[in-house]
Amino acid sequence: MNKVHPDAIVVGAGISGIAAARKLQSYGHVVEVIEKGRGVGGRMATRRFAGASFDHGAQFFTSRGSEFTELIETANQNGAVKKWTNGFSDKPDGYARWCGSSGMTSLVKWMVAEANIKVRTATTVNDLRDTPANAYVLTAPVPQSLAILSFSQMLPNPRTHIQLSSISYKPTIAILLRLEDSPSMFPEHGGIQFLDHPDLAFVSDNQRKGVSDEPAVTVHLSNSLSESLWEHPDQDVLTETTALIEDYLSGVAISDYQIQRWRYAGPENVWADPTVVWGSKPTIALAGEAFAGPKVEGAFRSGLAAAEKINTALSST
Ligand SMILES: Cc1cc2nc3c(=O)[nH]c(=O)nc-3n(C[C@H](O)[C@H](O)[C@H](O)COP(=O)(O)OP(=O)(O)OC[C@H]3O[C@@H](n4cnc5c(N)ncnc54)[C@H](O)[C@@H]3O)c2cc1C
Repeated sequence: MNKVHPDAIVVGAGISGIAAARKLQSYGHVVEVIEKGRGVGGRMATRRFAGASFDHGAQFFTSRGSEFTELIETANQNGAVKKWTNGFSDKPDGYARWCGSSGMTSLVKWMVAEANIKVRTATTVNDLRDTPANAYVLTAPVPQSLAILSFSQMLPNPRTHIQLSSISYKPTIAILLRLEDSPSMFPEHGGIQFLDHPDLAFVSDNQRKGVSDEPAVTVHLSNSLSESLWEHPDQDVLTETTALIEDYLSGVAISDYQIQRWRYAGPENVWADPTVVWGSKPTIALAGEAFAGPKVEGAFRSGLAAAEKINTALSST
C-alpha cells in the first residue's frame, strides 16, 4: 500500500538537499525533494541564453573528504564531471578543480538520476504543514529557511533561533556576456581567479571551459563591488564595469548580456556543526553550506550529516 506522505521532505535541490535525499533513501526512507526553481543544482547553476551556456554560480569544486571524493570519481566515470585544472595561478598547486561536464548543474542532475530521487520542481515551500512528513531537511540559505520555519510555526528554541539569525551572507553579481567572437587572452583552461582583487572575483570563458559551444564569458564581481552596485539597474552595472572587464574581452564586441544577482552567494560566518536538528514528529534539520564550510563539498557534507541525524530520529520512533 502507498504511504499517504513521505517519511522525509527535503526543501531545496542543491547539492546539500540531494546529498541528504540520497542518504535517507539509501536507509530505506521514502523521500521527496521540493525545489522552487525549474531545475536542480541550486547555486551550482548553468543558464542558456542567446544560443550560449554560462556557469553563473559556483565555477568549480575541490574534493578532499573520502565520501565526496568517491562520489566525484563515480560521477567522473559516468561522464557527469571532469577535471578542469590543477589550479588557476601560473604555478598550479596540484589540487584538482572539478566542474560539471556540460555545466555545473551536471553533477546534481546525475546524482538525482543515479539514485532515482523524486524531485518536485517549480514549487516554493512556504508552510511545511502543507506537505506533511515525519521529518524535514531545509537547505535554503539560513534566512530563507528561518522564514519558512517561522511561517510553519516550527522554529527551534529561542537561543538556537537567535544564533541561526546571526548567520549573514555576502552578495555576488554575475555578469553574463554573450560575445561576437572568442576572446583571445584567457589561459587554455579558461578560468581566471582573483584572490585579492578589489572588484573582481572570477572571470571565466565558458567556451574554453567546455560549457558553451558559442563565445560566452561569466564575470563575478567582488562582494564589495556587488554590494555597492546591488540596487543599480542592469544597464548601469554593465556600464560601470566595462572598464574593468574590457581587458578580458580582447576587443571582442558584446552581442547580448544578462545580470544575475546572488543575494546569498556565501555565508560570512559558518555554524560550528555540520547540521542542526530539533524536534520529533516532525524532526527538523537545517543543512547547507552555512553548516560545514562555504563550498560545494561543505554543502554535500552537511546534507549527509543532516540525513544521518534524521535517520536516527526516524528509526527510533
Ligand atoms: C557566485 C557564486 C560563486 C561560487 N563559487 C564557488 C566555487 O567556485 N567553488 C565552490 O566550491 N563553491 C562556490 N560557491 C558556493 C556553492 O555554490 C555553494 O556552497 C553550494 O552550491 C551550496 O549548496 P546548497 O545545497 O547548500 O545550497 P543551494 O545550492 O543554494 O540549494 C538550495 C536550494 O533551495 C531552493 N530553495 C530555496 N528556498 C526554497 C523554497 N522556499 N522552496 C523550495 N526550494 C527552495 C533553492 O532554489 C536552491 O535550489 C559559489 C556560490 C556562488 C553564488
